[in-house]
Amino acid sequence: MIRLKDINKNFGNVPILKHIDLRVNKGETVVIIGPSGSGKSTLLRCLNLLEQPTSGYLRIADDSLQLKEGDSIKQADVMKIRLHTGMVFQAHHLFPHMTAVQNVMEGLVTVRRQAKVEARAAALRLLKKVGLADKADSYPFQLSGGQQQRVGIARALALEPNVLLFDEPTSALDPEIVGEVLNVMGDLKQEGMTMVIVTHEMQFARLIADHIIFLDQGVVVEEGSPDQVFDAPTQKRTKQFLQRLD
Ligand code: ADP
Ligand code: MG
Repeated sequence: MIRLKDINKNFGNVPILKHIDLRVNKGETVVIIGPSGSGKSTLLRCLNLLEQPTSGYLRIADDSLQLKEGDSIKQADVMKIRLHTGMVFQAHHLFPHMTAVQNVMEGLVTVRRQAKVEARAAALRLLKKVGLADKADSYPFQLSGGQQQRVGIARALALEPNVLLFDEPTSALDPEIVGEVLNVMGDLKQEGMTMVIVTHEMQFARLIADHIIFLDQGVVVEEGSPDQVFDAPTQKRTKQFLQRLD
């Protein structure tokens, strides 16, 4: 579903991502871990072209790009790739003046030009899926952090993306409500959703990941199954990172 080959990203002259190769199969869950500042968010944002990679090859589903330094990407190509993905951010990005159902149906109305009645029905089905059927008409400020994140997930699902990208979806939440968001993500995995998740929840990572990627200073230092990476890391930097978490 996703293929990256030799992706590099510089901010100014500073290399932030270096020679990233990545493969995500359909239905697979890949979890990216690594210290703060290692480039995890930048990597996710390169996947949906919120950031343009400086160079390298990127393919999602059947759309691909080969970039050389200095190339610019046509907006039409950006949209093609971006529509394959849905993104859930660390802090929810809901529109504060719209209810939950309006937030979820927004993309269907503006991007897909669906009739409001239809879009609303689809949005209500998605809210039900994330356990929020009864909150459809609530505004974001009337919802808990966990509920807001679940609305964010429903919204990311609305345009039926091939891949969901999560950037630390629970790190702004109180510990007691982290579980409700992780449960929804677990359900999506069961349904066969392809997901790339950045998280600091290592127990969750171990449970949900088919493949773990450890990123440090913009480099994939180590990758493998959760058992390999968590129980038998081969690289010193991975060991140090995991030890610090204990
Ligand atoms: P992580 O998500 O792993 O904490 P980020 O991808 O946010 O790391 O950041 C990686 C590095 O890139 C950091 O050093 C950060 O300061 C830098 N960086 C991120 N975004 C920008 C930007 N828009 N402009 C310049 N530097 C950036
Ligand atoms: Mg980040």
